Amino acid sequence: MRRFDAIVIGGGAAGVMAAGVAAGAGYSVLLCEKMEKPQRKVRITGKGRCNLTNMRSGTEFLNHVHESPEFVAAALRSFSNKDAYAFFERIGVPLAVERGDRVFPVSGKAWDVAEAHIRWCRDRGAVIECGVRVVEICAEHGHVTGVVVENRRGESERIIAARVILATGGVSYPATGSTGDGYMLAHRLGHTIVEVRPSLTPLVTNMSGVRALKGLSLRNIAASLRVDGKIVSREFGEMEFTPYVAGPIILRMSRIAVDALIDERRVDIVIDLKPALSEKQLQNRLVREWNALGRNVDRKSLLRKLLPAQLLPVFESRLPVRSDRRFLCDEQECSQIIRLLKEFVLPIDDYRPFEEAIVTAGGISTDEIDPLTMQSRCVGGLYFAGEVIDIDADTGGYNLQLAYSTGYLAGTLKV
Ligand SMILES: Cc1cc2nc3c(=O)[nH]c(=O)nc-3n(C[C@H](O)[C@H](O)[C@H](O)COP(=O)(O)OP(=O)(O)OC[C@H]3O[C@@H](n4cnc5c(N)ncnc54)[C@H](O)[C@@H]3O)c2cc1C
Repeated sequence: MRRFDAIVIGGGAAGVMAAGVAAGAGYSVLLCEKMEKPQRKVRITGKGRCNLTNMRSGTEFLNHVHESPEFVAAALRSFSNKDAYAFFERIGVPLAVERGDRVFPVSGKAWDVAEAHIRWCRDRGAVIECGVRVVEICAEHGHVTGVVVENRRGESERIIAARVILATGGVSYPATGSTGDGYMLAHRLGHTIVEVRPSLTPLVTNMSGVRALKGLSLRNIAASLRVDGKIVSREFGEMEFTPYVAGPIILRMSRIAVDALIDERRVDIVIDLKPALSEKQLQNRLVREWNALGRNVDRKSLLRKLLPAQLLPVFESRLPVRSDRRFLCDEQECSQIIRLLKEFVLPIDDYRPFEEAIVTAGGISTDEIDPLTMQSRCVGGLYFAGEVIDIDADTGGYNLQLAYSTGYLAGTLKV
């Protein structure tokens, strides 16, 4: 029977980090990855460019962590964003900081980040086996004793280890290998799983005319998330119609929106299409355009000066219908247009499933994990790292940093 000091389950960002750290400390380490190669998810991150961390400082960084920021604080101290930056440059991945303090490889290739990380892990002495799925974590008298693995031919093997690090990821983008096995493995050992939900996922509106908006991108807009008529979140930036409601600011708000939709509450996105202009300034602008275009101008031509053509039919459908299509520039008409420019409401009816969600909210309860070691409070010798834990964060490099930090801390195998 094969025997290792530690077995890492899952070769994602967290698992590869944990295995490399443990092997570097002198432990014999086996990393089991069920897919044909490790880090399939990392290779598609950041639209193939991999936004691997964010350089925002401590508290600012933690503001972008949704669940349990206090839980990840120790992990972030043990391997911070600055450490991640220095680490990847040291292992041969030159980095650059872009808008919003987001960090990317200079090569623009997520593949380079994955390959360098795996090479580093192997060089430190970890054995990486692919096509091997862990189907059971064995434990006796409250302490892990090893795992049972199954290969592609269906053959199973029991491997002995007194320490097991569970880093199987969540359930988003399951084609990358993250299919939720970790929840089942941990649950069987007595761990609580906080209900999993898609996060950073596109939202769905059944608003009429939305199909025609496919491909439309709205930049420099302000959007608010309204739940039961109350504003609960505000964002500024870019959104797009795919035909779902997507883009960075929508994804950021989706976490709260998904929870509200699950609770059957009313959800709207309220868009300010002209956040840089006050109502008074918009009024002046309308009058200016009216004078410039000639006073017989029709409403559509005037609106074309303010909005992308693709949005016009839906926008106009929200204004009162008039037989005379001329723009009258009276007080009533101006205020209707201004109100709609400042408060364009998209009713949200649903959200897209795990297959399209960047991360999974929920997972193994942080109440049952020691944040100073990542060790289980239920079973001795069992550690957790990455998205399998009930932690998730905004887009912007935060999620990968959480995977690296928790992986690093788990890999030190502190007791
Ligand atoms: C499209 C997309 C883009 C993203 N872009 C970014 C970005 O730019 N920046 C950012 O910070 N975050 C990004 N994320 C999120 C980020 O990729 C994840 O949060 C992070 O990769 C989680 O790492 P992990 O190691 O915990 O899990 P995963 O990367 O999911 O790795 C888990 C691994 O465990 C393996 N596994 C599962 N079960 C078993 C088993 N039973 N036995 C053996 N192996 C098993 C899986 O095959 C997988 O390889 C993105 C996510 C997606 C889907």
